Formats: sequence, C-alpha cells, structure tokens
Amino acid sequence: MQSSPLVWHNGKLKPLHEATVHVGAHALHYGSSVFEGIRVYATPDGPRYFRLVDHTERLLLSAKVYDLDIPYSREAINRACEDVVAANGLASAYVRPIAYRAGFTFSLAPSRDVPVEFAVIAIEWGSMHGAQALEDGVDVCVSSWNRAAPNTYPTGVKAGGNYLSSQLIAQEAVRGGFAEGIALAPGGCLSEGAGENLFIVRGGKIYTPPVGASILAGITRDSVLTLARERGIEVIEQSLPREFLYFADEVFMTGTAAEVTPVRSVDRKPVGAGKPGEVTRALQKAFFGLFDGSTANTHGWLTPIANHEHVGSSQGWLRFDPADAQATAQMEAA
Ligand code: PMP
Repeated sequence: MQSSPLVWHNGKLKPLHEATVHVGAHALHYGSSVFEGIRVYATPDGPRYFRLVDHTERLLLSAKVYDLDIPYSREAINRACEDVVAANGLASAYVRPIAYRAGFTFSLAPSRDVPVEFAVIAIEWGSMHGAQALEDGVDVCVSSWNRAAPNTYPTGVKAGGNYLSSQLIAQEAVRGGFAEGIALAPGGCLSEGAGENLFIVRGGKIYTPPVGASILAGITRDSVLTLARERGIEVIEQSLPREFLYFADEVFMTGTAAEVTPVRSVDRKPVGAGKPGEVTRALQKAFFGLFDGSTANTHGWLTPIANHEHVGSSQGWLRFDPADAQATAQMEAA
C-alpha cells in the first residue's frame, strides 16, 4: 500500500518513514489503538470530506471507552485530517486517523501517563472491492466465525484489537474464493461483514441488523438509511436470521472503504436475480450523487479541506432504535 508522502504524526507533517513506533508500544502488543477511515471525494467544488465531524466524534468516543487520552482536541484532529490531504495535494483520498498507546509497557492497565500518540495517513484508494464490484456485485459467504458478544469487548468501538475478528472473517472468505465474509452475532442472527454493514431488501423494504447485533454503527450505514428514508423507502432495523440472506431480493453492504457494494451471491446461492437490484441501484445513485452534486448535500455532510471551523456536535450517526432493545433482549434470551 502506498501512503501519500506526508504523514501527520504527533503534531507535524513528516515523511512516512519518519513516522515510526517503538517495538515495545502497548498498542502493538495489545491492540490498544482507536482509528477511523474517512473518505475525501473529488467534487465539482473541489475535494470534500464526507462526514469528518461524525468520524471524529466516533474516534473520541472510542478513545473514551479505553481511557485513551488523545493529546489533541476535536478541532486539532479535524485540522490534522485536513492538513494531511492538503499537504499531499490529494483530490480524493481514504484517510486514516489513529490514536494509539505508544509507550513501552506490558501492563494491561497502563497508567494514564503512558503516552498516547496520534497520526493521520492518507492514501488514494478506489472502492474496497474494486470499481467492477460496484457494478456487478460481490460473492460473499457466511463466516464460521461469530462477532464478539457485547459483553466481551465493544464492537461499537473502532479499536485496533477488534480487527483480529475481522481478519479471521476476511481471511477465511478469501481462502474460500469469496470477496467477503458475513458474520453472525453471538445469538445466531446476522451481524455484519468483516468491514461493512449489511442490508437486505425484500418486498421493497430495507432490513438491517440493529446496533445491538455486535456491529459497528457505520457512518455509511447511517447515511444510506437516511437517504433511503428520504426517498420513502421503509427501513427496518431488526434482528435477522441467516435465512433472510437467501430469501432476499437484494443484499448490499456499506462502509467507508466499501461504499455501497451490491452482493450478488451468498454461499454460492444467487441473491434475487443474481445482479444488483433496483433499491441497491437507487441508493448507490443517491450516495454517489452526493459527490457529483446530483444529490443535494442537505445534511452538511461535505466539508471543504480548508474549512477549519469544525465545532459542534455529531449529526446523529449513532442512533438507538427501540428495535435494538428488543433485539438485545431476544439475543440475551437465546
Ligand atoms: N463494520 C466494521 C467492522 C467496519 O470496520 C466498518 C468500516 N469502518 C463498518 C462496519 C462500516 O463503518 P463506516 O460506514 O463508518 O465506515
């Protein structure tokens, strides 16, 4: 993977090879990092961040759970994300801010004076599964690995350590010749992909597992659900059994890296007609339209790189739906 030449690291823009970590760093041994993946899109008005404020909000909440004191303010984090894109002259990018326990300690309960460092890397990256996948859809399987139970470690936190689970799911899928694996939640119902949220369309309605189903509450998930509701498509966040994948008219997955990727088969069974369906297409159009101007940016989701005025709160990417409480109760009962 090719990073852009300059990386933002501990307050400075520096060449990638100078942005290093200690081999004793706590994060390397125990996964104690929190990170984000954020996209910058080339729009007719120039490069624009997509929901930077919300990604920073999620990063700060992730850090809070692990008592990781990021030594930069919300505004400084936003500014660092902008600076790395501007300094590398990128028109579009996938941006990876990461805060990690950089100090050398083997303690599992490190004191708060063990240093936390912060870096932002930017790369040029097309869609995770490739441009053709956006057109044709991908072949996925259900993983033999489950997501972690909510009382083990929090899947709603985007921490480095969580991605051991995602690696097992993705590696198994790739070994089997699939583009991605879909994991079940501990109760046996559907959860999400290794790095994407999951959606099923049946009878013109969209179904997606709730935040209680051991998912990461994706910002793309929230965007697509918002766009769907605005287009009069009914959205149901509920606990879903595995067979819904095979009953589905359409299946698609969302993520910052994966964007809106149609799924054309699950476990070698075709989804619906075996090609992306009408609802998936409409949502792809609405989503990608945000970046060519054909979908109005009514939520303030796009921000210019030069705009350093990111104050204010998140725009509600994390919603607790009554269905979540219900799903959680069902899972606990199971
Ligand atoms: N679930 C997991 C496990 C992920 O890693 C990601 C990617 N961040 C997502 C869902 C999608 O989240 P988002 O839309 O915020 O990128």
